[in-house]
Amino acid sequence: MADDTLFHKIIRREIPADVVYEDDHMIAFRDIAPQAPVHVLFVPKDTIPTLDAAQPSQAELIGRLALAAAEYARQQGLAEDGYRVVMNCNDHGGQTVYQMHLHLLAGAPLGRFGAA
Ligand code: 5GP
Repeated sequence: MADDTLFHKIIRREIPADVVYEDDHMIAFRDIAPQAPVHVLFVPKDTIPTLDAAQPSQAELIGRLALAAAEYARQQGLAEDGYRVVMNCNDHGGQTVYQMHLHLLAGAPLGRFGAA
């Protein structure tokens, strides 16, 4: 079901996660298989399966995710060196959990962003 993904279980605290931030709109926790020294997922609490499924009424929420990632990076002293934010969408985008989420990757040079 769309509202019963792994990330919904983390939101409901049915599955443990290393939560680094939470508010009324979202939860943020460390990725279990980090692709960079810092790899945090920002997940809305409203059910949005993919970016493709997002509605104009959810524009503010999507903006909140991006701003929360930026704030977290600043707080952690990662912003000046820089970071990457990514949203994978559907199969070709590499999405594996169908509750929309934003990846924050940081803590080392990430190399060029490519299709490979
Ligand atoms: P996607 O591939 O959908 O863009 O990203 C899903 C992410 O969720 C992956 O980076 C994957 O490592 C992460 N992930 C999968 N299962 C778990 C889990 O049980 N806990 C946490 N914290 N992350 C997970």
